Amino acid sequence: MKVIKDYIKRLFLIELFKGLNLTGRYLFSRKITVQYPDEKTPQSYRFRGRHAQRRYPNGEERCIACKLCEAVCPALAITIEVEPREDGTRRTSRYDIDLSKCIFCGFCEESCPVDAIVETRVFEYFGDQRSDLLMTKEKLLAAGDQLEKQQLTHDKTLDHVYR
Ligand code: SF4
Ligand code: SF4
Repeated sequence: MKVIKDYIKRLFLIELFKGLNLTGRYLFSRKITVQYPDEKTPQSYRFRGRHAQRRYPNGEERCIACKLCEAVCPALAITIEVEPREDGTRRTSRYDIDLSKCIFCGFCEESCPVDAIVETRVFEYFGDQRSDLLMTKEKLLAAGDQLEKQQLTHDKTLDHVYR
């Protein structure tokens, strides 16, 4: 009996018409494809993108090298080395975030007592090599400077500077 049913299905191209029916149903429905990068979908206000290190308005870096972010990072993506400065303050001599390990959980941002490390809304970046995805202290501070500038000017066109 099953053999006959299969034969009839094949003879009348039943599966083909089923597929065409499905295609036809979506042909005239509302399109959800976005023409990226000309068009972009809205970002959640909770979105967490690439990191930045912030400074105080006088230019002093906020990070006090407490290493809380390094301790809390579940992916072990943060590496910090510390040296006291000549003025006796405690600052990082190395602060790296390996974005190839990071899972963008936001724990580092949450744990920071001085709001030094933050996650921006930037997601458009890439790396040809693994080292391109290593955010060094210099890169993080530069990203933070651009972030402050963007927030001051509300200039969305500065998004590209984080790439
Ligand atoms: S976002 Fe999470 S995984 Fe990424 S560096 Fe911060 S704590 Fe680590
Ligand atoms: S970024 Fe914040 S949590 Fe991490 S070492 Fe600096 S001050 Fe501490």
